[in-house]
Amino acid sequence: MNYTSLIYAILSMGVLGLLLSMGLAIANKKLHVEEDPRIALAIDLLPGVNCGGCGYAGCANFAENLVEGKAQITLCPVCEIEAAEKIAELLGVEIKPGERQVAVVICQGGDSIVKKKAEYEGIQSCIAATFVSGGERACSYGCIGYGDCVDVCPFDAIKMNSERIPVVDRQKCTGCGNCVEACPRDVIELHPISHHIFVLCNNRDNPKTSRSVCKYACIGCKICERAVEGEGFSVVNNLAEVDYDKYTKELVLPTEKCPTKAIVIVGHKDEV
Ligand code: SF4
Ligand code: SF4
Repeated sequence: MNYTSLIYAILSMGVLGLLLSMGLAIANKKLHVEEDPRIALAIDLLPGVNCGGCGYAGCANFAENLVEGKAQITLCPVCEIEAAEKIAELLGVEIKPGERQVAVVICQGGDSIVKKKAEYEGIQSCIAATFVSGGERACSYGCIGYGDCVDVCPFDAIKMNSERIPVVDRQKCTGCGNCVEACPRDVIELHPISHHIFVLCNNRDNPKTSRSVCKYACIGCKICERAVEGEGFSVVNNLAEVDYDKYTKELVLPTEKCPTKAIVIVGHKDEV
């Protein structure tokens, strides 16, 4: 290439670049959509932990939906009441409060309580163990014990105890539901904080089978049902269930009567 051709090529590229950037500048001006300034203000007020507990893809996405009137501030399980009030004021809406939800681990089948069916030497993860005959515990309904739920909690609200059963700190738990999603056995449920009595068992096998694998398994004997005269407790498919709308009797009654200690009081009456 001679000197003139080189100059010509450089000038052509320069003109082309100039034309393209002018085109982009014009398109940017024409297509620009003004962002509602309330979105940035709402983002500043939200906790910024991006836990996903509201059901949206992070706090920024939640803020956009709040401003567009498609979401309610009460969907955020983490937001402090003062911040929620400021956001409601910013958007000119009222807060419709709902009861706080917390995670509850519906299993007591720790290492000394449930039978061991095999040695498991694979990856120490509940989801991995489900692909290798469900880990080492003999109950196929209960906690596997490798703490996948602990790993996904953004609030340090769930820890494994010495029995390798997760324990939830009800004051730290925001009800984001990450642990519920992570559990391959569906052993964790979200419940209103006012729920205190639980049948901590998921085993629906016949009483002989369930009892043969776990000391604390519900055996469907109906003693709890009779103790409260059917008001709030019933046994369905070998497993006792609580009907929280009906259960009004003294909390201790079914817990004292249950022969396998499957019914447990979780938390205390005054917590909010
Ligand atoms: S314990 Fe579960 S629901 Fe509670 S904050 Fe942690 S991950 Fe969320
Ligand atoms: S509750 Fe579920 S996720 Fe947590 S340790 Fe047990 S099986 Fe694993």
